[in-house]
Amino acid sequence: MSWAAIIGQPLAVRLFQKAVATDSLSHAYLLVGPDGVGKRTVAMELARVLACARPTPDGACGACSGCAKLAASPPTHPDLILIQPDGRMIKTDQMRALQTEMYVRPGEARFRVAIIDGADKLNAEAGNRVLKLLEEPPDYAIFLLLAENLASVLPTILSRCQVVHFPPLSPEDVAAAVQRQLGLDAQQARLFAALSGGSIGRAVAMAQNPEVAARREATYSLIDKIDAIDDFSLLGYSETLEKEKETIDPWLEMLLLWLRDGFVLAQAGVERLIVNGDRLPAVRSLANRYGAEGLAAMIDVVSDTRGRLQRNANFRLALDLMLIRLGEIARHAGRL
Ligand SMILES: [Zn+2]
Repeated sequence: MSWAAIIGQPLAVRLFQKAVATDSLSHAYLLVGPDGVGKRTVAMELARVLACARPTPDGACGACSGCAKLAASPPTHPDLILIQPDGRMIKTDQMRALQTEMYVRPGEARFRVAIIDGADKLNAEAGNRVLKLLEEPPDYAIFLLLAENLASVLPTILSRCQVVHFPPLSPEDVAAAVQRQLGLDAQQARLFAALSGGSIGRAVAMAQNPEVAARREATYSLIDKIDAIDDFSLLGYSETLEKEKETIDPWLEMLLLWLRDGFVLAQAGVERLIVNGDRLPAVRSLANRYGAEGLAAMIDVVSDTRGRLQRNANFRLALDLMLIRLGEIARHAGRL
């Protein structure tokens, strides 16, 4: 790994590169952004650079003993302390141990680095202990706090840190990363990137989850046949969906992706914008039968239902209504 190999976070990378080059690192940084966008990768690269005997502007050398100890899994370098939630929260005992460890001078490197992955998951006492450390940091200490949710970080901690934002990645960046990590082809990588919300972590998890592939087939099969299913059977379908209550949001998202693909093809005819590019004939069939107007109306119906369910609307009622309306639109579009 080097700075240049980090995907999609040029601002954060430049900030740390510059701070290292000009020897102006702060004692505490708060890296904030959704899960899976590179916070931990950037924090680890900074730890590597700080432990490396021969760092270059591009990053750690990868060959010295400091680099080797950080490349081990888990890292064995004595001057890096990695903290993650124990269960759902970071516990007081973990922070008590950190307090002791951080007041020991670094043994091998110039700095002692603590990565606290879950600064938004500190209980009150653990938070106070972190605050004590941040208020009087030893001169060799660097604290890298990672959080998904800025609003859940104690304001007193926030005020002691330099905040570094990690925005969601572009679909292209996610696709490139997934392709590299899992060896997928470009089409598959684009599909998972489109569903990932800008998170490499989510895209990788979906690519490895067989339920996602099953959901993709099920949603296509429904929308493909919906113009031929009578209302009574549609209500039966919504009953079977009740079993998927927990995963209804990704289910609806997948359905939207098919509709969106069909719409893009019907409206603009641009094949390279199709996310389900490996299933082009299937997408073309939707585009031809339902047309841009029909597909746009269906997208509205599904988006609307998704929003209602997120606001805790009655599950069966919302889905019944959605399926009946989709059926109506599909049959009407077929008659045009
Ligand atoms: Zn090195």
